[in-house]
Amino acid sequence: MNKVNVDLKLGLNKFFVDESNAHIELTDKINEKEFKKLEFACPAGLYKKDESGFHFDYAGCLECGTCRILCKDTIIKKWEYPVGTLGVEYRNG
Ligand code: SF4
Repeated sequence: MNKVNVDLKLGLNKFFVDESNAHIELTDKINEKEFKKLEFACPAGLYKKDESGFHFDYAGCLECGTCRILCKDTIIKKWEYPVGTLGVEYRNG
């Protein structure tokens, strides 16, 4: 059986980032327990925590909606699809 390398597959995608309008925003005050859910669940690994604090970058978002479902009532302040033709463009290599 062939193994699939998810990182390689995701690396094929193209991202057209809207630098002036984040399509996902977090609340100013972050609940650590809620953030931890997103660290584990985001397939793109965009939620990270280290000694300097909580980090999130919407630029590599796959628009899967997982974070919205898990935390829309807690630490996700805004979740929208990117406008127009911006956002992820999936490529199958
Ligand atoms: S929509 Fe999906 S890929 Fe984008 S930040 Fe949320 S969990 Fe991660």
